[in-house]
Amino acid sequence: MRTFRYERASTTSGAVALLAEAPHGAFLGGGTNLVDLMKLDVARPDLLVDVRRLTSDRVEELSNGGVRIGAGVSNSQLAADPLIRRRYPMLSQALLSGASGQLRNLATAAGNLLQRTRCPYFQDVTTPCNKREPGTGCSAIEGHHRDLAILGTSPECVATHPSDLAVALVALDAVVRTEGPDGERVIPMTELHRLPGPEPQRDTVLRHGDLITAIDLPPLAFAACSYFRKIRDRASYAFALVTVAAAIDVVDGVVRDVRIAFGGVAHKPWRAIKAEELLRGGPAGEDQFRRAAEAELADARPLAGNAFKVPLARNTMVRTLLELLEGPR
Ligand SMILES: Cc1cc2nc3c(=O)[nH]c(=O)nc-3n(C[C@H](O)[C@H](O)[C@H](O)COP(=O)(O)OP(=O)(O)OC[C@H]3O[C@@H](n4cnc5c(N)ncnc54)[C@H](O)[C@@H]3O)c2cc1C
Ligand code: SF4
Repeated sequence: MRTFRYERASTTSGAVALLAEAPHGAFLGGGTNLVDLMKLDVARPDLLVDVRRLTSDRVEELSNGGVRIGAGVSNSQLAADPLIRRRYPMLSQALLSGASGQLRNLATAAGNLLQRTRCPYFQDVTTPCNKREPGTGCSAIEGHHRDLAILGTSPECVATHPSDLAVALVALDAVVRTEGPDGERVIPMTELHRLPGPEPQRDTVLRHGDLITAIDLPPLAFAACSYFRKIRDRASYAFALVTVAAAIDVVDGVVRDVRIAFGGVAHKPWRAIKAEELLRGGPAGEDQFRRAAEAELADARPLAGNAFKVPLARNTMVRTLLELLEGPR
């Protein structure tokens, strides 16, 4: 067994200072991912700084019409919040599609965004894995990769990011607020997670000791008509094969605005910029949705075992947008 210290700070700056002095330390949210990884010997922090009750556990309306989610809000509380359910239903749907009731009660908003990949080799310390041990190789490329990425992969890593919440936040243009050794930052959700490139060990642009304090949602009236669709092997308690988070604003049959993000297809939540650009200002219909999805997925480079994800992602996007045309769910 590996020993570690457990600390609580009374302020966010105190927590940041504690971690700044511990290069191998980590923040602890609900512990539903980090503690599992410690048990598997994948994560080996020598200090845990518990921040679950330190950051805000409130969902608050902002003066600009947006909403601030405290980093310590539980996944259950966030999914049930009336403001979120009314204005951003895809967020609530994304959260309720993940994990189990018990896990959602414990898991925090910040911890959910920073959970690590579910690639089986990452979780198995007996196998080579560039993300866990840089330079050892990627077992998935020649091995089991059915669940892994088709977009933005690198020869070093083909993992996917597992968070459903992050996909909805990317579609909504949310931003993450952090406090760290170098001060406060505001990071767009579209830039928080990275593609693997030659450094798959880095999941995000956060630096050691950066504490997520809140997530801000911008006002977006048409997000009230949004939907999160998750395709998976089991109807519950399973990670995504493909997800689509979408909101669409159609007036007189023309797409005035649209937001689309895919999950389960890349090392980061994948904002469908090309598809959105093709759709904006044009007619709303199945053919247009299909062409936009095909344009977005044209750069997909699947492996032998996950080529099925390309048509699956296309069809999921088309079906989700068509259902949104029928009105709020
Ligand atoms: C069986 C099972 C099924 C699951 N299914 C799904 C699913 O389908 N979809 C899904 O999205 N998720 C799923 N999850 C993942 C679950 O949602 C995550 O474990 C959870 O959201 C992580 O939140 P946490 O607060 O417990 O994070 P922790 O485990 O405490 O931390 C995770 C990471 O975040 C860091 N961290 C925590 N808080 C902060 C902060 N404020 N600032 C900076 N860093 C911080 C930690 O250092 C750690 O690196 C599943 C988990 C399990 C065990
Ligand atoms: S896909 Fe990434 S996480 Fe999985 S084995 Fe390869 S390097 Fe490791």
